[in-house]
Amino acid sequence: MANILAIVGRPNVGKSTLFNRLIEKKKAIMDDESGVTRDRHYGYAEWTGKHFTVIDTGGYVTGSEDKFESQIRHQVELALEEATVILFMVDSYMGLTDLDKDFANVLRSSNKPIYLVANKADTTERMHMANEFYALGMGEVIPISSASGSGTGELLEIVVEHFDEGNENPDEGIPKLAILGRPNVGKSSFLNALLGVDRTIVTDEAGTTRDAINTRYTMYGKDFILTDTAGIRKKSKVKEDIEFYSVLRSIQALQDSDVCVILVDAERGLEAQDMNIISLAIKYNKGIMIMVNKWDLIEKDTKTADVYKKSIEQKLGQLNFIPIIFTSVTKKQRIFQAIEKAIEVYDNKTKKISTSELNDVLLPEIERYPPPALKGKYIKIKYVTQLPGQIPTFAFFCNLPQYIKAPYERFLENKIRKNFGLEGVPIRLFFRKK
Ligand code: GDP
Ligand code: GDP
Repeated sequence: MANILAIVGRPNVGKSTLFNRLIEKKKAIMDDESGVTRDRHYGYAEWTGKHFTVIDTGGYVTGSEDKFESQIRHQVELALEEATVILFMVDSYMGLTDLDKDFANVLRSSNKPIYLVANKADTTERMHMANEFYALGMGEVIPISSASGSGTGELLEIVVEHFDEGNENPDEGIPKLAILGRPNVGKSSFLNALLGVDRTIVTDEAGTTRDAINTRYTMYGKDFILTDTAGIRKKSKVKEDIEFYSVLRSIQALQDSDVCVILVDAERGLEAQDMNIISLAIKYNKGIMIMVNKWDLIEKDTKTADVYKKSIEQKLGQLNFIPIIFTSVTKKQRIFQAIEKAIEVYDNKTKKISTSELNDVLLPEIERYPPPALKGKYIKIKYVTQLPGQIPTFAFFCNLPQYIKAPYERFLENKIRKNFGLEGVPIRLFFRKK
């Protein structure tokens, strides 16, 4: 099960204000560098140790006035199908409106947990006013103020009850690869090419959707599981719907995987949505690789791949440890290499490096370039060891851990990567006093 919280409600009730309060923005590594993650409608959140994805469904309502009602209806329907928990937000300042009633009518048909949240309850008086929403017959009214944050802790307390603790992998030890990417990038074609036979992926029944399917493969003596999100494509003509589905399914598959294989269309390059998925994958401690597909459509000379790779790496900024493979699924070029690379990323993610190996390699490097002294104090790193964790995690024991700054941390990270080849996996460093 995926942990997804969707916020629905009519415009201006405060959905995006709450969204921004909930999502973790610190360490949004690529935000400044690429400038492509600006309008993000989904993000990563954590509350009392539980991790989940928040979706601001309002961000997907874009249309003109006449299309508005139908878009809102879609928004609600999509949230109902895909989210784990739904927050139905109303505005205690404006009071009950007809549109709120319309929302309630659609929501009532669902058997998912739905919480009625009366936002803008900034004062005691407004909190009392929120009582009028009991008339919607949607159960308890939870007053909050997204602007100040009051009431949001209590709300999250209830919400996270519905979420999983974390990665319980029943197929422990077998790499689980999620095949992700925007609509039409070639995901179904990729899966079909691996299978060697065409499969029907989209069921024909109107409106049918399907959860991501896990298929176990054995190829060249390697076992792996592919999580297939290709069925994303609900029979829908509306472009926004397809995008929205693609995002939701990607998030579900991402949360459930070990390694995310992100397909990028060679003709379009790395787009904002791809960057958002990468940033989510990092936050959920997943391995990552990029597969630039439809490479056959690019006119090439001997330098093209290098130049293309550099431009992607530039967008990735500090995430330059992500491997990039160029494929043509239709021409069956490098598709097995792509799988091999993804399995390699999995191996890197689960790699254990012995303490003696780490110290033999890193201590001389540290001696050569010690951390810069701060306030006349010398920082001495005495030894390094790997800690257990979902991703490679290293503890550096030293006299003054608080004096180690980001640039030196990056220096150490680079040394670890250079010597131990942890391609495709985020790593984490801790500094501890000894
Ligand atoms: P959305 O359209 O539902 O995403 O709504 P927004 O988050 O854009 O908020 C609409 C307006 O309500 C903005 O002007 C917000 O500043 C304001 N707002 C949001 N939350 C609160 C709140 O808790 N109290 C008050 N007084 N205003 C709020
Ligand atoms: P999905 O929506 O990501 O599952 O994408 P599909 O697998 O349905 O592919 C969308 C379209 O792109 C189809 O017409 C495919 O034949 C085409 N396609 C997929 N991979 C390639 C490729 O490597 N090269 C070219 N030229 N077309 C491709």
